[in-house]
Amino acid sequence: MAVTAGVDIGSTTSKALLLKGDDILVSVIGQSSTNPAKTAREVYDRCLTEAGIKEEDVDYVVGTGYGRAKVPFAHTNVSEISCHGKGAHFFLTDVRTVVDIGGQDTKAIMVDDKGNLLDFAMNDKCAAGTGRFLEMMVRTLEIELSELADLHFQEGEPCTIGNMCSVFAESEVINLVNEGTSLPRIIKGLHISLASRIAALTKRMGVEPELVITGGVAKNKGVIDALQKKLNLKPRSLPENIDPQIIGALGAAIIAAGKMPQSPSG
Ligand code: ADP
Repeated sequence: MAVTAGVDIGSTTSKALLLKGDDILVSVIGQSSTNPAKTAREVYDRCLTEAGIKEEDVDYVVGTGYGRAKVPFAHTNVSEISCHGKGAHFFLTDVRTVVDIGGQDTKAIMVDDKGNLLDFAMNDKCAAGTGRFLEMMVRTLEIELSELADLHFQEGEPCTIGNMCSVFAESEVINLVNEGTSLPRIIKGLHISLASRIAALTKRMGVEPELVITGGVAKNKGVIDALQKKLNLKPRSLPENIDPQIIGALGAAIIAAGKMPQSPSG
């Protein structure tokens, strides 16, 4: 059975994944750098080592993400928009809308019953509406990204973050802290502000059920909760053991498998 790889060089993180048939052999996540080719090599090598597979035994490699053209060992590259559709469809065949919330851009993606791209809308001009917005806020609040979800579900009415611009929203957060506003109230307000942006983007494209959220920000259940309320639609869940951040790399590996003769996904 063919072994294929997906290497997703995002603006914030780089992901690599090895696929054999329907089995994900291994996936790794690393920080992106100013040298995408080197980062691609590093995450791919970590994958090969962890899976105990030699590079020559990988049949086809697809690069994707922001730095997709800079994966020197890839046979070809494909836009991450198509890859997220294919990756989400691998687990959830009835999904028609994929919302990929990454570090520097967010995409609402419409797919057909095979996970093929039909349409998309994208926000990449502004930090608000992307993972960067929350990264800035956790730095200001001196907390970790991984704490956001717990804080979101603690008691307290969400406060209103009036400014859509991340720079002004940051000043607003500093004021709220100085006024003694509780952290859960601020975090809920931030999640609602982010979700408003993303919901508007998704609605612009058209929300077709079922919907799933992918990308690194999907690890934050507080954002999922806020988005669910804004869209009035419960997003489908990926399997518990699957990190939503690797869905683009998975889609790339699936597309790679489609390049193989007699591939089941082909
Ligand atoms: P890209 O592909 O654009 O590099 P990713 O899909 O890897 O982006 O997502 C990166 C974003 O994921 C970061 O900006 C960060 O906000 C968010 N993120 C990463 N890990 C976590 C976590 N454990 N909890 C909440 N958010 C996270």
